[in-house]
Amino acid sequence: MTKETDVVVIGSGPGGYTAAFRLADLGIKTILVDARKEPGGECLHNGCIPSKALLHVSGLLEEIRAADQFGVRVAEPKVDLKTLREWKNNLIGNLSAGILQLGGRRGVEFVDGRARFEDSQTLVVENEDTSRITFKHAILATGSRPLKLPGLGAESNLVMDSTEALALEKIPKTLLVVGGGYIGLELGTVYAALGSKVTLVELTEGLLPGVDRDLIRPLERRIKQLFEQVSFNTKVSSIEDRGDYLQAEFEGDIDIPHGTFERMFVAVGRRPNSDNLGLEHTRASIDNQGFVRIDAQCRSAEPCIFAIGDVAGQPMLAHKAMREGKVAAEVIAGQASSFDNQAIPAVVFTDPEISWCGLTEEEAKREGKQVQISRFPWSASGRAATLGRLEGLTKMVCEPGTGRILGVGIVGPNAGELIAEAVLAVEMAAVAEDMGMSIHPHPTLSETLGEAAEALLGHATHISRKAPPISGG
Ligand code: FAD
Ligand code: NAD
Repeated sequence: MTKETDVVVIGSGPGGYTAAFRLADLGIKTILVDARKEPGGECLHNGCIPSKALLHVSGLLEEIRAADQFGVRVAEPKVDLKTLREWKNNLIGNLSAGILQLGGRRGVEFVDGRARFEDSQTLVVENEDTSRITFKHAILATGSRPLKLPGLGAESNLVMDSTEALALEKIPKTLLVVGGGYIGLELGTVYAALGSKVTLVELTEGLLPGVDRDLIRPLERRIKQLFEQVSFNTKVSSIEDRGDYLQAEFEGDIDIPHGTFERMFVAVGRRPNSDNLGLEHTRASIDNQGFVRIDAQCRSAEPCIFAIGDVAGQPMLAHKAMREGKVAAEVIAGQASSFDNQAIPAVVFTDPEISWCGLTEEEAKREGKQVQISRFPWSASGRAATLGRLEGLTKMVCEPGTGRILGVGIVGPNAGELIAEAVLAVEMAAVAEDMGMSIHPHPTLSETLGEAAEALLGHATHISRKAPPISGG
């Protein structure tokens, strides 16, 4: 059977379904294909949503445990794993059904099956039967999958990737987490809160390589309290499956170079799903990391094929995929759309959360750019005091002379929500004075943004500091 359409979108994650919905809203006949029967992609089924659901619960557990400091006496909470799993799975099911419904109402046809290009106008889709879809344009939104550590227990069922860790089959007494990036930290936090003794090993010299170190410090302190052991400049040199436990050997700056663990969780990055797609039958090209090469309109080297989201390059974040989805759809519809965003926010949903957008201090240093950096410590925030969370920090990276806000970084509870104001400031080319003169509600953590801006101008109310000097260049 062969179907004909204007546009076929391959992959129904946040990038793919956003593109398909925008196309339909623009009056363009669209088919959305996914190898999985339920739309939503990795983000909904194995990524953003289940991890944040579990982080909500682990946050709740930690809040209950910390209640004692406020004079609230509560017993150690008990977790019913089956109920927790069912709650998480139900919310995923409901959200997926919602996507299907939203697509259906717009007239987007959803087809399940694994797709590959036969040529640059034809897609082969395999499920129980094989069918074909001919198209004028295609948008590739096939996402990414976890990287494995070759030779290090990849075949053992005691070794988990993020999908298996999120399935939450059991809470191991001891858990080895390999990788101190986004996923290792977020899911390590979940398992530690649920009762695992977590050992984390990270190859580089600190958590979240590339992120400003002053933002990392409060998180590192917290993680070291929550986890049994955290080791940097360390890698796993061998893993042996001994039936009901793993024997691990380490190399690097770790105190004890071996250990036994009930489970190991590998979170060392992800690779794009650009293979087995028949791209060789088109002119689309991939780079040496497997990302499909695209231009600012999300167009590949094959003019009728677009690529968006994780398969099209870093950062591998759902909201970047969604924006690219809109750009690709609008370009196909003939609009002058382009991915020219100045600030892609990043949020690590640990406790405390870390968020940043635009230019970071580390990037400014690397690029030799002159900047002025102001910091507002949350120890001077009334709202942070009421929460018992004084460890946070809000920092601003500005252009010397004009005070234009180039980037913002935040660490503390709710940093992920707070960064949205900074994204708008960077996109709108706001200056520190705009942010400082805008009235922020009191008492809220958002005031730390206003005060960081005022600190740049040398007149923050709750700290007494001169304007920061110009650095770099
Ligand atoms: P995906 O969501 O990966 O979807 C791709 C879809 O393509 C899948 O449904 C797949 O079945 C389908 N597909 C693949 N190949 C084919 C084929 N040949 N034929 C048909 N269909 C195919 N990002 C955030 O922004 N915030 C977060 O909090 C966050 N948390 C995360 C937590 C975890 C544990 C993980 C693993 C990731 C997280 N991410 C987060 C990253 C986020 O999930 C990705 O950036 C996002 O899913 C990328 O969206 P996408 O549309 O490119 O592809
Ligand atoms: P990551 O790139 O964030 O972190 C991987 C970490 O593993 C790095 O710190 C790296 O130095 C370390 N590492 C690599 N090889 C190692 C080894 N052999 N031994 C020890 N450590 C090693 O990757 P991730 O955590 O797998 O996440 C993948 C991507 O998914 C992220 O980069 C992000 O784009 C996305 N994600 C986003 C969120 C969010 O937005 N909150 C959450 C989860 C995932």
